[in-house]
Amino acid sequence: MEAFTHLFVFYTFLFSLLRTSISLDTVTPSQSLGDRGTLVSAGRQFQLGFFSPGNSKSRYVGIWYMISPETVVWVANRDAPLSDHSGVLKVTDDGVLVLLNSTNGTVWSSNTSTTPQNPVAKLLDTGNLVVKDGNDDNPDKFLWQSFDYPCNTLLPEMKLGWNLVTGLDRFLSSWKSTEDPAQGEFSTRIVPHGYPQWFDMEGTKIKARAGSWNGLGFTGRAVRPNTVFEYEFVLNEKEVYYGYKLLNKSVFSRVVLNPSGIVQRFVWMDRTQSWEPFFTSHANQCEIYALCGAYATCNINKSPVCACMEGFLPKSPEHWDSVDWSDGCVRRTPLECNGGDGFLKRTGVKLPDTFYSWYNKSMNLQECEGMCLKNCSCTAYASLDVRGGGSGCLLWFGSLIDTREFAEGGQDLYIRMAISELGHLDKNSHSSERKLVGIIVGSTLLVVGMIIVGMVSYIWKKKLRNQAMIKGSERKDCDNEGVKEDMELAILFDLTVIVNATDNFSNNKKLGEGGFGPVYKGTLPEGKDIAVKRLSKNSGQGLNELKNEVILIAKLQHRNLVKLLGCCIQENENMLIYEYMPNKSLDCFIFDQTKSKLLDWHKRINIIRGVAKGLLYLHEDSRLRIIHRDLKASNILLDNNMNPKISDFGVARSFGGDQIDSATNRIIGTYGYMSPEYAMHGQYSVKSDVFSFGVLILEIVSGKKNRGFCHPDNQLNLLGHAWKLWIEDKPIKLVDELVGDLCNISDVVRHIHVGLLCVQQRPEDRPNMSFVVQMLNSENLLSKPKQPGFFTDPQEADFSFSKFGTCSTNEITTTVFEGR
Ligand code: AMP
Repeated sequence: MEAFTHLFVFYTFLFSLLRTSISLDTVTPSQSLGDRGTLVSAGRQFQLGFFSPGNSKSRYVGIWYMISPETVVWVANRDAPLSDHSGVLKVTDDGVLVLLNSTNGTVWSSNTSTTPQNPVAKLLDTGNLVVKDGNDDNPDKFLWQSFDYPCNTLLPEMKLGWNLVTGLDRFLSSWKSTEDPAQGEFSTRIVPHGYPQWFDMEGTKIKARAGSWNGLGFTGRAVRPNTVFEYEFVLNEKEVYYGYKLLNKSVFSRVVLNPSGIVQRFVWMDRTQSWEPFFTSHANQCEIYALCGAYATCNINKSPVCACMEGFLPKSPEHWDSVDWSDGCVRRTPLECNGGDGFLKRTGVKLPDTFYSWYNKSMNLQECEGMCLKNCSCTAYASLDVRGGGSGCLLWFGSLIDTREFAEGGQDLYIRMAISELGHLDKNSHSSERKLVGIIVGSTLLVVGMIIVGMVSYIWKKKLRNQAMIKGSERKDCDNEGVKEDMELAILFDLTVIVNATDNFSNNKKLGEGGFGPVYKGTLPEGKDIAVKRLSKNSGQGLNELKNEVILIAKLQHRNLVKLLGCCIQENENMLIYEYMPNKSLDCFIFDQTKSKLLDWHKRINIIRGVAKGLLYLHEDSRLRIIHRDLKASNILLDNNMNPKISDFGVARSFGGDQIDSATNRIIGTYGYMSPEYAMHGQYSVKSDVFSFGVLILEIVSGKKNRGFCHPDNQLNLLGHAWKLWIEDKPIKLVDELVGDLCNISDVVRHIHVGLLCVQQRPEDRPNMSFVVQMLNSENLLSKPKQPGFFTDPQEADFSFSKFGTCSTNEITTTVFEGR
């Protein structure tokens, strides 16, 4: 009878909850929570209730911020949604939280093991849902707590890591999508093997490694003491975990692993009532786990980013040179072990993977060195804790993997080397005097060598040219002596040959016209087709640009660069002769309603990837290292099979290996493709080409010109429009309707994503071309793009979203003007 009364009271209460929305502060066996009920924490910071994410119809029990109800921090039944509003959350007499469906079936339950006298469920102000014994006064004693079963969010006071006694692993796992909280494929977790580290994983594959704790933060992430958070890393026999506390209780902050596998920390901004990102993982190429392979370091400020450690050489030089660094490096001199080894100190590094490592908290650095020397398998050592000058000892066994160089921060690493190798390195790098003498002697030898090689090559080529002139009448020397010397590598054509080949520059033979003059199709007497660019006398491309193009392009060879066959400088004519490209330029296709149908998605991808490879060759792999400065659709030519080739090197510049950027007061390029820093300040670097490449990707995907496009509703130019669609989460709407079937939507979105990464406002945020090629050819995670630089017109020198997102009707294709 008593049981019946209880049941009656319970159901009466339950039905009243189901009808009305009501807020509770506890759930007890006699007070259950229906779909419209909520549980609120005492300080009104967090709320628990039923919700449906986005447009989903499924119902879940979750916890969210009162200040931001759409920010769900925990979900009970993430893998078992309810299909209607009939769910009920209750606590059983045994202290187990259960979620029941309309037929009273258990959809989800907690796993409390001890039976309390007076079970109650409460939501604490930390966001922790706990079940405790109401008769127990200890506020920290819980029978079960949601903090032990995190979803995608790490809140202050939560622990990310292991209870080593019970084997409980607390890690974050992504939602499948923004509308499906089910466990996704990404996780971020502490791995306790060796000296524990923080890894970002996709399934069982490591994507990135935040690294090991060094007393201040994780060695691979810039976690530094600050006034907002206090970080904590606990490592003892019972547990190993990372956590953080807020120093100012009025601040809200959370760490979240999003559905694409990116870890972000957000802080709530009261003023804007929104979450602002404070930290984002995977922001650059060097965060990809083991990108450079063993015994190599990654430096985001260098190009290419990977380099072997000193005393090491690429294991597979061929792969290494083609930007595949995964084989890593090997020792130039083998270790000797017994007394024959020492250590090379590297400063400012992210410590290598500690999976195969050993540590001791009380040893000092000297003892640590001795310990490493004693063991022939020990490959490196470092301080365990960098605070107060360093303490503890960390030893590595086996290869050193996933190391980075930082411009700021990082720590010291001592790498084991054969003493003979150390002597060699010392000679090369540690004696500044010797280095200086070395440089002087080296440079003198180099200069003398270059003069000798130059003279021999000049005499040799002159001989060849003379022979060619004697042999055939169609190719003749230029009559400009000054130019001639600079153009040894190009073949010099006779004017009459070109006049005949082009039917005296007949209009029928005209292929197009660029900023520097018309281009004609020609046919040489032996039947070979050529394209002749006739530089108009009043064009900006004078002899200097012609020389520039000849000198640069004649020395380059790549399947994605158009081949320069030669030049002709005779009787006031300056001409460049190229291989003929039957399909002319890309702009003739993508911006043409009829012809763009010929470019299906597969062909468009092939073009994007080809241009990326050509540009990578120019930036990183060619002998000269070249910035193109005028990359655009009309400078991409297409061969018979629609393979792309970059053309027009009239304004390209060669740059030195270590030179990061350069400035000019003569700004040449094309509006719509010019990066903001180049157009505004004349500053060009490889990143200005990356910007143009990003514009090109978006044009190829959308079939719209950045400069010509103007969205009828919002007046945005193409970049503005693409960005708007991106932030509204509908990037696919950007795609050209004429593309036809899109077999792989995620591939399309990936290309738009890469395009947007390339057109980011700040050059340092844009990826370099080797990273672009990698991103286009893999399925690796991509970082979140920031707002693009929307440059349209120099008169509108303002990069705010409103101004530069808008389009200009004044379309100029190629422009030369003097900057300030
Ligand atoms: P440019 O002055 O290099 O921008 O060239 C102007 C136009 O001429 C290009 O957009 C192409 O349509 C065409 N063109 C230039 N070079 C070639 C070539 N090698 N083969 C075929 N068409 C070309």
